[in-house]
Amino acid sequence: MAGVRHPLTIAIDGPAASGKGTIARALARHYGLPHLDTGALYRAVALAALEAGVDLTQGPAVAALARALDLDHCDDARLRADRVARAASAVAALPEVRNALLDVQRRFAAAPPGAVLDGRDIGTVILPQARAKLFVTARPEVRARRRFLELAARGTPTSEAEVLADIRRRDLADSTRPTAPLARAPDAVLLDTSDLDIDEAVRRAIDIVEARIAA
Ligand code: C5P
Repeated sequence: MAGVRHPLTIAIDGPAASGKGTIARALARHYGLPHLDTGALYRAVALAALEAGVDLTQGPAVAALARALDLDHCDDARLRADRVARAASAVAALPEVRNALLDVQRRFAAAPPGAVLDGRDIGTVILPQARAKLFVTARPEVRARRRFLELAARGTPTSEAEVLADIRRRDLADSTRPTAPLARAPDAVLLDTSDLDIDEAVRRAIDIVEARIAA
């Protein structure tokens, strides 16, 4: 890690269940950086809207909830529910909401020693100047299997086919919305985790970041 300039910002984007969260946490540990799971921000806004009965298509009303968001409340277990994921994808399409969450994400990354952020638009919109960018992906069937096993371990009744359909719907919504769609930044390194176990995926992610630091 010699020669690391601070702040060290690492942007990780990719679709649901690609392994980006696991990789982001491992990189944060490896480099001693704080980690921000930006999907949790959209999930927290979605949950707040569902609880307050706010219409998920109303940009200004949902953005007001986004501005009131407390980062410390973004690790609520209820955020992991599927209905919250679907609502998160809906509110994430609202430009007012994305705008409301922009500063908090940039501030998190700007403070020394830097940070690891994972999401859908980190390398493209939030941190276009990030030192290292990864686009983590995996085949939809592999992602569905991972998510299905995760849900089953939590005792949530579902089928793998249902999870796959849900993943495909969310991929389509996230990558076709006009504002900040899920996309690989031109300078992001692609990491396909379909045929990798966690240790190997993390090893490759570290190699990618090391190559960027050395460049
Ligand atoms: O990553 P996670 O599944 O928690 O994200 C939930 C939803 O939040 C995604 O489907 C996506 O619509 C939205 N999101 C986003 N931009 C981010 C992170 C998440 O639009 N940076």
